[in-house]
Amino acid sequence: MYPIPDHLKPYLTPVGEGNSELHVHGAVRCTCGCALFTPYVNEAGTIAAAKCRQCGEKLLLFHAGQHGWDGFVAKADYLYDLSGKLKPVATCPQCNAATPLAVLLTITSLGREDFIQGSELTDEHGRKLREEDWVNAFTSFRMDVACPLCGQTSESIIDIETA
Ligand SMILES: [Zn+2]
Ligand SMILES: [Zn+2]
Repeated sequence: MYPIPDHLKPYLTPVGEGNSELHVHGAVRCTCGCALFTPYVNEAGTIAAAKCRQCGEKLLLFHAGQHGWDGFVAKADYLYDLSGKLKPVATCPQCNAATPLAVLLTITSLGREDFIQGSELTDEHGRKLREEDWVNAFTSFRMDVACPLCGQTSESIIDIETA
């Protein structure tokens, strides 16, 4: 099993070798089949979304106050600067062309057993967690964008420890 959080399960397709219970790298694909988006990020790099360029659906990709160990288990949203409007990434960071972009995500996890032991299947607010929630308690989130025109992938747009 790969550590794909529940909110990304319909959208993230694992890519390449080296995916495991502790690490998944994949591309975002809308349920309409399109893989090109306008990504949105807030200034602090704690919230990311993407708008499909074909059907217009808006996907919430990451919210540090809701997702990952700190957001999902520790309920520690106070650790993160969640302010600031989401701004579009409207141009390729490499070639500066105004173009829709592919979105690549890399997520790391300590795995299912570590989650069960560490959380004792209860979140900080006393709410019961399921063993299957281990995927929602990931420990880092990285987002890159890839340009269909120049073929280059960005240095990370977001790269954040979430535990
Ligand atoms: Zn779509
Ligand atoms: Zn480019």
